[in-house]
Amino acid sequence: MPSLHRLPAAAPALPNGAFASRLMEMLAVPTFVIDTGCRVMIWNKACERLTGMPAAEVVGTRDHWRSFYQAQRPTLADLLMQDRGAEVSQLYPLPAIHPAEDGALCAESWCDMPRTGTRRYLAADASPVHDDGGAMVAVVQTLRDMTEEKLAQAALERLATRDGLTGLANRRCFDDTLHAEWARALRQKQPLSLLMVDVDNFKAYNDANGHLGGDECLKRIARAVSSEMRANDLVARYGGEEFAVILPNQALKGAAIVAERIRSRVERLTMGSVEGGAGLTGPAAGHVTVSIGAATAIASPDTNAQQLVAIADAALYRAKHMGRNRISLPIAEVS
Ligand code: GH3
Ligand code: MG
Ligand code: MG
Repeated sequence: MPSLHRLPAAAPALPNGAFASRLMEMLAVPTFVIDTGCRVMIWNKACERLTGMPAAEVVGTRDHWRSFYQAQRPTLADLLMQDRGAEVSQLYPLPAIHPAEDGALCAESWCDMPRTGTRRYLAADASPVHDDGGAMVAVVQTLRDMTEEKLAQAALERLATRDGLTGLANRRCFDDTLHAEWARALRQKQPLSLLMVDVDNFKAYNDANGHLGGDECLKRIARAVSSEMRANDLVARYGGEEFAVILPNQALKGAAIVAERIRSRVERLTMGSVEGGAGLTGPAAGHVTVSIGAATAIASPDTNAQQLVAIADAALYRAKHMGRNRISLPIAEVS
């Protein structure tokens, strides 16, 4: 594309400056320009469409921030104009990109757009405009609306790590987290606990309530288990009607307390009455319970996370054997 100063003299019916402004105005890319006093010189039509802010309201003012933010703060263009590039990483929470090349700045962030009332993910590039003597006379900021890409990416990430029915971490996420936590426990010489939680007689629950009723029950149990967790704990759907809980930096005593809280919380859940269920008891009447096996390890290079799973599994088996609706602690510690 020829640069503006090389256009043949006869081409624009407008003076060069006006032609450049018109061109900028019509660009499909949302663009605005600020002067050395951070006042808006140009606010193009694409920028009006993106922000819902008419050029007439913003040109000549320093109010361009109102198009993107609820509270006053500098835009990327302001940071560049005021030589405050170092602040980019504080103002843009995601890893901000600010290449030194050409003195330009780039950054990405979610914006709750005040005028349109929508939440958009915007990628911004701010570039300096210099005069013939090399002095910065303006900054041009272009914007890309990446909302759709960002939402699609988040949905893909969710698909890869979440269980579709319960919204809990899936098995793959559990495996990755367990290995990461094991490595951390080894580094920091901290205990790591694991609970295996299995719904009692769930086959009977399904038989009495139908598979969809069973699904609903699993969702409620998942919510109940999650509500007992701390921020660093991870609850996963391990398989069919089995859940696993990773408790970082938790010794066996603490793990037993959490396990008992989960057991009693599920026991108190009311799943609604079953049609024709008068006279029934247990799962057939819509009552569910869980059995829980616990394991704790002080990680060492001679052991691995699979042993922790095996010990929690063995404890769970004992809880079932002893009559269900109970917690069981390990006989042997991983060490
Ligand atoms: P136990 O107390 O020994 O664990 O008995 P149980 O009946 O729970 O165990 P079993 O392994 O015999 O049966 C598990 C049942 O869980 C059978 C299976 O259909 C049901 N199940 C597994 N995944 C799902 C699911 O996603 N939805 C529903 N509704 N049921 C499920
Ligand atoms: Mg079961
Ligand atoms: Mg099971």
